[in-house]
Amino acid sequence: MCGIFGAYSPRHEALLEDVYLGLYSLQHRGQESAGVAWINGDGTTKAIKGMGLVHEALDQHDLAMRRTHVAIGHVRYSTTGSSLAANAQPLVASYARGPIGIAHNGNLTNGEAIANYLESRGAIFQSTTDTEVIIHLMAHQAHKPPLEALIDALRRLDGAYSLAVLLKDRLVAARDPWGFRPLVLGRRGDVTYIASESCALDIVGAELIRDVEPGEIIVVDERGVRSLRIPVEPTRRCSCAFEYVYFARPDSIIDGRSVYAVRKELGRLLAKRSPCPEASLVTGMPDSGTLAAMGYAEESGIAYEKAIVRNRYVGRTFIQPTQRVRDLGVRIKLNPVPHLLDDRDVVVVDDSIVRGTTAQHIVNLMRSCGARNVHLRIASPPVRFPCYYGIDTPSSEELAAARTDVEGLERQVGACSLAYLDEDDLIAAIGRDRQSICTACFSGRYLKEKEMDHGLDL
Ligand code: SF4
Repeated sequence: MCGIFGAYSPRHEALLEDVYLGLYSLQHRGQESAGVAWINGDGTTKAIKGMGLVHEALDQHDLAMRRTHVAIGHVRYSTTGSSLAANAQPLVASYARGPIGIAHNGNLTNGEAIANYLESRGAIFQSTTDTEVIIHLMAHQAHKPPLEALIDALRRLDGAYSLAVLLKDRLVAARDPWGFRPLVLGRRGDVTYIASESCALDIVGAELIRDVEPGEIIVVDERGVRSLRIPVEPTRRCSCAFEYVYFARPDSIIDGRSVYAVRKELGRLLAKRSPCPEASLVTGMPDSGTLAAMGYAEESGIAYEKAIVRNRYVGRTFIQPTQRVRDLGVRIKLNPVPHLLDDRDVVVVDDSIVRGTTAQHIVNLMRSCGARNVHLRIASPPVRFPCYYGIDTPSSEELAAARTDVEGLERQVGACSLAYLDEDDLIAAIGRDRQSICTACFSGRYLKEKEMDHGLDL
């Protein structure tokens, strides 16, 4: 999972501060590294990247002093390639036809095959990210203008990519033909923005124009904003259901649907399908389960309370993982409110169960704080399969729901009852037809090879 942001203005102005702010609001999509790249006054690319959170990796004041007409940025959570400074994005290069910078959210399922092919023909890679193959594919088409070379590169890619691309005189956005990862277009005055989520447009005072469509390329330059198509026959749309369940911020609108509204609807449908009439209190796992818990409470008529408090300041840099800290476990991050729980039957709603360790800790903690019975309700189907489309899920062996059935997991986490949302309800809450949503990590139904095959040799 990563976040990308881009800005173009017909004039040289303080776009880099906008990119910084945009990345700041996309921080939830990646905390390993952050970076910005832009075109300098002399027409060359410049990049500043660093490890850690946006405010650790980048200097806001320094960026605010600089002027440019086109800039991109990236926050990273690695899927392909390890967490190294060399893999921080945007990747920048200068090739025969000029400067280029790329910020990528997604995962190229044929990235390794393309890299092997290019290496066998002499290409030398600077990073271990799949994103770099796009630059090499462009460099192999040096007889074409950069935009044409980029389009030629995109038609050879399989898998998930939402891209912000910096060329000498233009900003380019592209979303893969299946639309796995979100990407939106915005405007403030004559500045055009692209962002992974609409919450990043809000922070710079930009208006959401629309989503970038699956298979669409948006070109922004002195001629204005143009829409082109990636020349690949569309098979079917495959937008990620998990963006609505967990990844995206609730104040974002993805493909025309409010993430907030979807999460509450997930909770309502969960309450209809898996009621818990004996409970007198509904609470949510902060923050990912909160909205679904509110939906569950509304539908069931059971009171909602914020009975689990999250320490907002827990970060990797604050508390070192000594043995004592490991023993204390989740309590450093999440702590129940005892007086709300005493002798109560409680429904705890969470967005998903991945490894199962947090669910187990929280059930134990709630019991130790006096809860009589703890019922777990999960606002998505069991996660049983890994994601190959840009989300760093563990392997099947590490996924709690892949190792055992619901009853087994109920025993493992120690809940009085455990129930999941089913796939039909998930799709109904998102409000699209089944064929246009990816639910592969729940269902195992990945895109078939023929649905992704672009029919091109490398
Ligand atoms: S496999 Fe899951 S996380 Fe990955 S794109 Fe599909 S729904 Fe999203």
